[in-house]
Amino acid sequence: MRFHDIGARARLGDEGEPGFEIFVGGGVGRTPMVGHCIKPFLPRAELLNYFEAILRVYNRYGRRDNKYKARIKILVKDLSVEGFAREVDAEWRHTQGAGSLIPESTFETMEAFFAPPAYGGARATDLAFVAPRAENRPFARWVERNVAPHRHPGHGIVTLSLKKTGVPPGDATADQMDLVAELAERFSGGEIRVSHEQNLILPSVALRDLYALWERARRNGLATPNIGLLTDVVCCPGGDFCALANAKSLPVAAAIQARFDDLDYLFDLGPLELNISGCVNACGHHHIGHIGILGVDKNSEEWYQVTLGGSEGERTRLGRVIGPSFAASDIPEVIERILQAYVRERLAEECFIDTLERIGLEPFKLTVYGERHEAAH
Ligand code: SF4
Repeated sequence: MRFHDIGARARLGDEGEPGFEIFVGGGVGRTPMVGHCIKPFLPRAELLNYFEAILRVYNRYGRRDNKYKARIKILVKDLSVEGFAREVDAEWRHTQGAGSLIPESTFETMEAFFAPPAYGGARATDLAFVAPRAENRPFARWVERNVAPHRHPGHGIVTLSLKKTGVPPGDATADQMDLVAELAERFSGGEIRVSHEQNLILPSVALRDLYALWERARRNGLATPNIGLLTDVVCCPGGDFCALANAKSLPVAAAIQARFDDLDYLFDLGPLELNISGCVNACGHHHIGHIGILGVDKNSEEWYQVTLGGSEGERTRLGRVIGPSFAASDIPEVIERILQAYVRERLAEECFIDTLERIGLEPFKLTVYGERHEAAH
């Protein structure tokens, strides 16, 4: 929510009442910026009133005269976060408690659409789950990486990986989509979510059904146990499809996945996000990958700039460029060197982004550029 023009995070107020924390001024693309909180708690009934106030402030003061500056993030920078928040609050006061106030009955109607499924008596100790997890290593690995805890006991949240090596990230065939629909009907109350990491999620699966689900998904290329690992690459369509691209991105993703197609190594590396965009519009969110790769045009040739240290979620950060760009053929080797630096420097159980934050960019630059980097200092 901190990389959007307007972000809203659901939270509870002091009395337990539902509402939202509001952020503005985020965005990736040409001028990447992290959004700022302008309202720590907004009652949910006021959501539309407050959004309208933000848009009115933007309409009044935003740089509509210049398409490169016609974004809320530019206005927030110009007015300052406090100044923007003041303007929005002043505007909001005109409609607060009236205007587009959302009545409680509307929330009740919405909640009825998302009535929880009949969970039944599933338990985490069901033999149909415990036995195969103890005996079948591939299944256990898939559970470890692709199944997240569910708040309802005996259930899990399953991510079907669309990141099989040799297949463009996020691609699924018509037959696979038919299968996903069938799996959702049978195992997850007919529900499917699409993640911005380009995978598909079955939000509510009984643990005792996981093995049967896994077998079907595995036979059809949907159970690569790599969620949150290096090969779970987020990648835009790039120069193969997009008219705005500076460079191809899918072949770079394919080369990385092929080079690091060793599950033992991936599991040893642990959580690591790698994002690729084919141009500065940043549809692949390269700014917020732990490792980011951006396609750039240099004298009509395709080159790739590497950033390190981006992250989303609670620890929102923009990645920083490590140095001069690389040819496409060099990228797998560059990633290899970055990983070598991490493995050499990490403390026990320390994940990539934590090591990077602890030691900074220098050791990584040195390992990637070697003497060239030392000579520049
Ligand atoms: S980042 Fe650039 S190349 Fe990739 S899809 Fe977006 S506009 Fe196209």
